[in-house]
Amino acid sequence: MKRKKFFFLILILFSVLCLLSSYSYYLLITNRSPYILKLVTGTADYLMKGQNISNYNINLNISPEKGVINVESDINVKFIKDRRYIIFLLNDGLKIDSIGYKKAVSNQPSAISHYRIWLINFLLLPEKIKKDDDLRINIKYEGNLRPLGFSDGYIKEKEFILRNEDLWYPMDFQGLFTLNVKGTVPVSITPALPVSIINKLTGDGKGKRFSWRPERPVTGFALMGGYFNKLSKSVNGITYTLYSPVYHNEDMEKAIDSIILCHSFFKSQFGDDGFKNLTIIITPHGYRSYNHGAGIITLSKTDFPTIAHEIAHNWWGGTVCVDLLRRKGGGGQWIAEGFAEFSSLMAIEKLHGKDALLKEIKNENFNPDKQRIIDSITTFDNLMDGEDVKINNQMVYAKGAYVLIMLREIMGEEKFMKAIRKFFSEYNYKIADSSDFQRTVERIMGNSFSWFFNPWIRGTERLDFKIKDLNSIERGGTFVTTVKVVNQGKINIFAEIDVMAITENGKEIQRVFMDENPATVVFNTKSKIKEIIADPFLKWADMERGNNIVNPKNL
Ligand SMILES: [Zn+2]
Repeated sequence: MKRKKFFFLILILFSVLCLLSSYSYYLLITNRSPYILKLVTGTADYLMKGQNISNYNINLNISPEKGVINVESDINVKFIKDRRYIIFLLNDGLKIDSIGYKKAVSNQPSAISHYRIWLINFLLLPEKIKKDDDLRINIKYEGNLRPLGFSDGYIKEKEFILRNEDLWYPMDFQGLFTLNVKGTVPVSITPALPVSIINKLTGDGKGKRFSWRPERPVTGFALMGGYFNKLSKSVNGITYTLYSPVYHNEDMEKAIDSIILCHSFFKSQFGDDGFKNLTIIITPHGYRSYNHGAGIITLSKTDFPTIAHEIAHNWWGGTVCVDLLRRKGGGGQWIAEGFAEFSSLMAIEKLHGKDALLKEIKNENFNPDKQRIIDSITTFDNLMDGEDVKINNQMVYAKGAYVLIMLREIMGEEKFMKAIRKFFSEYNYKIADSSDFQRTVERIMGNSFSWFFNPWIRGTERLDFKIKDLNSIERGGTFVTTVKVVNQGKINIFAEIDVMAITENGKEIQRVFMDENPATVVFNTKSKIKEIIADPFLKWADMERGNNIVNPKNL
């Protein structure tokens, strides 16, 4: 009797969840309300927490001419809480044929009840699984993909892209798993997999078989196939393979050289990402560029900043992991996207020079009146489209990168890089959030950095430099010019900022410590001053720059 009650309770809960989810999915694809979506994913998050994939074996047959895939997956699920159920999401174009389950210890197969409403799959287990127990599930499914939200996944006659969420919405986005991929594609199609694997392809009349196992645990993966031009290079023991569709015109030499340059640079800066193979596929029709984990990247654009950003995810998001399901954020998105964007700017600065950085950093702007708290932005926010995603992205990518640029200014480059490396080495293969990074910074600096992290990451305050009270007199051939720099924003800057005077003959830069507000700057120049600019190298997230410039003429 008790068991029945429990069962009905679970079923009711499940139905409510499904209804809410369907509605939220409708909202997701119609871009109505991110708030309801967050509420629902937060609930799913709660239910899904407690299960963790440790090993994922997938065997796929892909028939592009029919537009179908046929999958058998063996998954090891580790329970991090006592549980009697497993929840996972699966593309609703894919039909589940069978589900089997075994406790890893006893290896005894048992019956399992499967309920499905739309994307959500609910497995009711015959017994309660204890915390730390392992479970092996075998799921067979097949069908064609139904387009989901903003997913780039598709199977066309001559090309397919299968992303995490097309193959399998991971039951758990909470960490890393070991991966084994096996499959068959038609002989004519090349699966874009790490180079060593392509060599193992064998045709047996039915198709090409491939098998691949990444050399380290991964957070996700993707699989692509098509008619590609391929270019491979090996540098320092790492093999880089670039695929570009035959119908697409691409300077592959240039792209692969940028890829190698970025990857080697980040490795020298952050530490080893553990990937010996990097596979990059150009997807000219893709909405976005992605790092799928497992050393697989798809690029919809091949400009240097995009390449650098995606490669940086090998470290941020791919090795230091973030909790992708968390409703309240915690700064995970910042650790992935803000850090990747900052890394991209850093690569531009160090590999292409300060002028290139200045040009690029102009794009990292956000509307100071329409801010959201960086820490509160989740992966689901990033998946949405429309005005909301624009604001969220500006927060996490642009402001997020700026926060790190400002932190580097405050800490000094040496200590800042020490913090970044320490953060990477301490949290590699672990989940990290913004407080973890703050603690690393505080340990290196020896004092609290709440004054910095709270307003920038957990608040929506702003800073706004303004130059005023310009006064210039000529004294025996020298122009003595005084200006005041005011920070009109609420965030205090306990750091030096650059103030640049442009004279008739050149420029002069002074560093002024902003512990006093306003701070006074004096320039002694041989020629007349034409203009004075606060923060000329855009090192601070001052989004109202009109008042940073003053010239004697418009006084
Ligand atoms: Zn990114």
